[in-house]
Amino acid sequence: MLYFKCYTLQTTIEDQQVAIAGREQGEIHALLAKTTSEAAVHLDENGKVLYVNPTFVRMFGYKGKEVAKKTVNKLFTQRSQDRFKQKISVCLKDGERSASNLRALTKKGQQLPVRVTVIPHRWHGDPAAMVLIRDLTEQLKITEELESVKSSYSALSETVADPILQINENFQIIFANTAVERVFGFTPNELLGKDFSALFPSSVHNRYEEVFKKYFVIDDADRKASQLENTIEVLGQNKNSDIVPLEISFGNSKSVQGERLVTCIIRDISQRKITERKLKYLVYHDKLTDLGNRDLFYITLEQFISHVKRYQDTIGAVLFLDLDGFKKVNDTLGHNIGDILLCSCARRLSSCLRESDHVYRFSAELDTNHGSHEDLFRFGGDEFVILLTHLEKPTDAAVVAQKIIDTIRRPYRVEGVDPSTKTNIGVSVGIALIPQNGLDAMQLIKHADMAMYKAKERGNRYMFFTSELNKQASERLFLENGIRKALDQKVFELHYQPIVGVNGFIEGVEALLRWHDRKRGFISPVDFIPVAEETGLILPLGDWVFETACQQLKTWNTEGFEDLYVSINLSVKQFSQEHIVDKLSRVITGTGIKSKNLKIEITESSIMPDPNEARMKMEELKKRHPGIRIAIDDFGTGYSSLSYLSDLPVDILKIDQSFVINMSKKGNAKIINTIITLGNSLFMDVIAEGVETKNQLEYLISKSCKSFQGFYFGKPVSVTALTQLLKTDKQPLVQT
Ligand code: C2E
Ligand code: MG
Ligand code: MG
Repeated sequence: MLYFKCYTLQTTIEDQQVAIAGREQGEIHALLAKTTSEAAVHLDENGKVLYVNPTFVRMFGYKGKEVAKKTVNKLFTQRSQDRFKQKISVCLKDGERSASNLRALTKKGQQLPVRVTVIPHRWHGDPAAMVLIRDLTEQLKITEELESVKSSYSALSETVADPILQINENFQIIFANTAVERVFGFTPNELLGKDFSALFPSSVHNRYEEVFKKYFVIDDADRKASQLENTIEVLGQNKNSDIVPLEISFGNSKSVQGERLVTCIIRDISQRKITERKLKYLVYHDKLTDLGNRDLFYITLEQFISHVKRYQDTIGAVLFLDLDGFKKVNDTLGHNIGDILLCSCARRLSSCLRESDHVYRFSAELDTNHGSHEDLFRFGGDEFVILLTHLEKPTDAAVVAQKIIDTIRRPYRVEGVDPSTKTNIGVSVGIALIPQNGLDAMQLIKHADMAMYKAKERGNRYMFFTSELNKQASERLFLENGIRKALDQKVFELHYQPIVGVNGFIEGVEALLRWHDRKRGFISPVDFIPVAEETGLILPLGDWVFETACQQLKTWNTEGFEDLYVSINLSVKQFSQEHIVDKLSRVITGTGIKSKNLKIEITESSIMPDPNEARMKMEELKKRHPGIRIAIDDFGTGYSSLSYLSDLPVDILKIDQSFVINMSKKGNAKIINTIITLGNSLFMDVIAEGVETKNQLEYLISKSCKSFQGFYFGKPVSVTALTQLLKTDKQPLVQT
């Protein structure tokens, strides 16, 4: 029996080590036969074969006995033989291990690429060598195939005009073709190692990061099931930080090491987006006027309707417009002139609207497509539709409609048309309110159309779909026109209501507007002041009030009532005028009144939009006219934000009459007490308005209120009546 003392056999296959100690030769050879896929040849110190394993027999075609005790030179081609011989001799002589690629020769004369490893060891105390031969044919074939795939892949990726990137699991770019430079401005080398996020604006990347990650975990095959598209459209960013719309297709693969990779084919879709936008524009706009068309109108209306459904307090309106007299112009002056006029109308209509509102034209060409549909068939060439989306109240729609009527009515100048030729065009407007008159697009347009037909009966007017609103709107129109006329014809008057001190004597008066219409009789400022405010007519009206009241004050002051003051109301719009202080100042100086005899009343709604600006105006007024006093009118009904109050140079709080009149109503007495306490602690005077009864007065006095105004002392009266009252005011107006 032969024993190895110590035998270490090292195979080359993946550096696997097999340590064998003290085994029998047969056992070793059996192990070699089993464990290795390489041919094994065991050589003695003379280079003669001691053993070959079954793989050798299969690989070379020689039987064991054909090579036993022979040298193995003939196992290699001529050129490889020399290198092999040299390696064996170095191994046996110096005990050096080596490995090299050689060409083997089989019994049949077939050449094989092989990896030969020569391992020295001791055999019965003498040098010996174990030769392991691995057939590289398959491996070389795979390498060649891989090389060919690699070169086709790189040829392919270079041929494609779109950028191709490969990203690893850490979102690092590990491959980029040259096309990346055209789209992103980075060279492929600049991109290698960069994070994928470098190709997107950070906001976009943050939004899409989770989506991108999904492409790593969901295989191509499973995308459909998880509703993940193969491509996404997203905004990218180039080297100069310009935004580029991109379409990215994702594909999964694995690296040789088994790491997941994602290949992205990226397409710059800027051009496509521009074309899409152009196309969309063409599809949704009227060719002649450039206004939105019927389709765009319905889309926008549907969107607005869902908005209204969600946000309950939103109101809007559909205005259906039909030009009056257009057909005549078109027939007499020709279609070209008709078209020019339609464009002018479209421009005028747009000028009447806010940016959020839109005007549409349902052009005649489109109508023929819908010819069979009765409702739509009637939309003709001179019909427009407007969608108003920001109304505070229904009557605001009437204000826009009236503006449109006035604007369309103005004469048109058309090039090539004799200016003396009449191009009179008017417009009839039907209004359907959203949601009041419907929450369905077709229904709304139908209702607006019906209202338009009613308006058309007389032409150049608007009509609401419901009669109640028509009444409100015509009332508003009456007030607006009436204020204008009344201002022109000097119909307005000022009445004055006494303000009484705690001793019962009149200390001042509040100037209150009075409008007596010949037909309608007395019209309350509660009704007409808001309309004057909305239309801006409050400005000339307010100027007149201020000037008239100051003149009257001067008269009274010089007539012997030198300490009497006048309190004048300033509306929100008046007070918000940039040069209001200059304006008031001119009148104060002009009339020569003493500023200590003047009080200004403003409401909290004048202060709240910009308390800082309000403060500056008040301070400036007081600086120019020391002694002038500022009151907050209707105190307690406003925003109740008291924090601003201590910051403002306010002298007086006027408790709103509603608290005093309804003093017995729960909570009102408490509110009154609070206002009086607040006034006292801020060193402000408090005037109680709406004092109608002795009880009310007594209560207010018991709470240390010092000034009062109300029917108990006197209603607002004419100058003559008030002068009379002042003259008889030798006795207190009321004995307390
Ligand atoms: P205001 O400034 O709070 O004026 C007091 C209102 O209360 C006046 O109503 C007055 O007649 C009424 N009043 C006074 N005492 C009593 C009372 O004991 N019982 C009742 N039930 N009412 C009383 P008026 O004159 O109808 O004015 C209403 C509002 O119109 C005023 O409220 C003010 O906001 C506005 N206004 C009136 N004139 C002018 C003006 O010249 N300019 C501006 N901007 N607004 C004015
Ligand atoms: Mg007032
Ligand atoms: Mg008041």
